[in-house]
Amino acid sequence: MGTVCERNLCDGCKACLSVCTKGAITIEENMEAFNALIEEALCVKCNQCRKTCQRNRSPKAVKPIQWYQGWACEDEVRARSASGGAASALIHTFQSMGGAVCCCVFEEGHFGFRFLNPPFDMKRVAGSKYVKSDPQGIYEAIEKKLKLGEKVLFIGLPCQVAAVKNYCGAEYTDKLYTVDLICHGTPSVRTLELFLQQYGIKPDDLEDIKFRKKARFQVFEEQNDSYKRIAKSGVQDCYMTAFLNGLSYTENCYHCNYAKLERVSDITLGDSWGSRLPQEEMMKGISLILCQTTKGLDLVHRCALKLEPVNLETAVRSNSQLRAPAPKPPPAGQIFPEPAPGT
Ligand SMILES: Cc1cc2nc3c(=O)[nH]c(=O)nc-3n(C[C@H](O)[C@H](O)[C@H](O)COP(=O)(O)OP(=O)(O)OC[C@H]3O[C@@H](n4cnc5c(N)ncnc54)[C@H](O)[C@@H]3O)c2cc1C
Repeated sequence: MGTVCERNLCDGCKACLSVCTKGAITIEENMEAFNALIEEALCVKCNQCRKTCQRNRSPKAVKPIQWYQGWACEDEVRARSASGGAASALIHTFQSMGGAVCCCVFEEGHFGFRFLNPPFDMKRVAGSKYVKSDPQGIYEAIEKKLKLGEKVLFIGLPCQVAAVKNYCGAEYTDKLYTVDLICHGTPSVRTLELFLQQYGIKPDDLEDIKFRKKARFQVFEEQNDSYKRIAKSGVQDCYMTAFLNGLSYTENCYHCNYAKLERVSDITLGDSWGSRLPQEEMMKGISLILCQTTKGLDLVHRCALKLEPVNLETAVRSNSQLRAPAPKPPPAGQIFPEPAPGT
């Protein structure tokens, strides 16, 4: 069976599913890789899937024109977020300007995407979900709103932003605002399911799931504002250990086209690692904010964000994902080599 892009390098953005009018594509997914398979009997060779695929054709990436570190002025927003709460501040401002916001939400065990009803439920939205999220079906919904003349803000991983841009085309550049997250790579949802299964938990058993409390990177269940660690006390959280060390990503992430300073979005958000601000501020979370376009910069300036200067060179040096994709881990035999004969 043919594939939409190079075998095992599919990012799982699923834009090809949305563009294929014949239902000829299925996504094969496992812990190692994604593949978008083309059912030859249904395919009419229009090639739309391959043309839309951002792995085959990435949108133009540009260097930031302005950069900051900063945090949400509202303490609660900052406290709830992974870094400084810039994402929530952007959502809030965009909605108050009458725009529609689409981003990833964990609901009923699924890391899907949807438009947020204002006022948005920050509890559901805030926090990094360190797993591959699923944008299936969101492309049509975004395009529909843009066609109606609405402004749309899309927040997602860089490959997902690229997919939205490829799907919608250049026609809506003024109305479509995009925010991408600096991304270390993502494990398949199956990896997370297997981790949870060790503790007798299924994703849809969880009211909410969090992967981090500021600098504490661990999988937690969140219930009524309190965080309960999933791994038993005294036991290492293997999910986050594997994530942070780049051991558990799907193959495409080790060949990511977007792990560089040039970005495909209007605004990029990450952690301001390497910041020289006082430790007290660091503990509360500081966002790194890169603006690639004047419309992105204008939106950032409208938000309730405390903005501070940041040294871009230091930021790039301190955040490897702004330089290159995570390196693929060596085979186990290289980590634990056989002793040389006679030793
Ligand atoms: C998989 C992943 C890897 C990351 N790796 C790095 C890194 O190496 N270096 C770095 O500096 N920053 C990284 N980040 C970004 C960082 O964790 C914060 O998300 C970012 O700094 C924004 O933080 P915030 O406080 O503004 O808002 P947050 O409260 O974290 O923002 C939440 C926003 O991110 C969206 N979101 C969360 N998880 C996902 C997901 N899985 N898919 C799509 N959208 C999602 C939410 O829908 C929401 O809009 C990563 C994020 C993710 C999801």
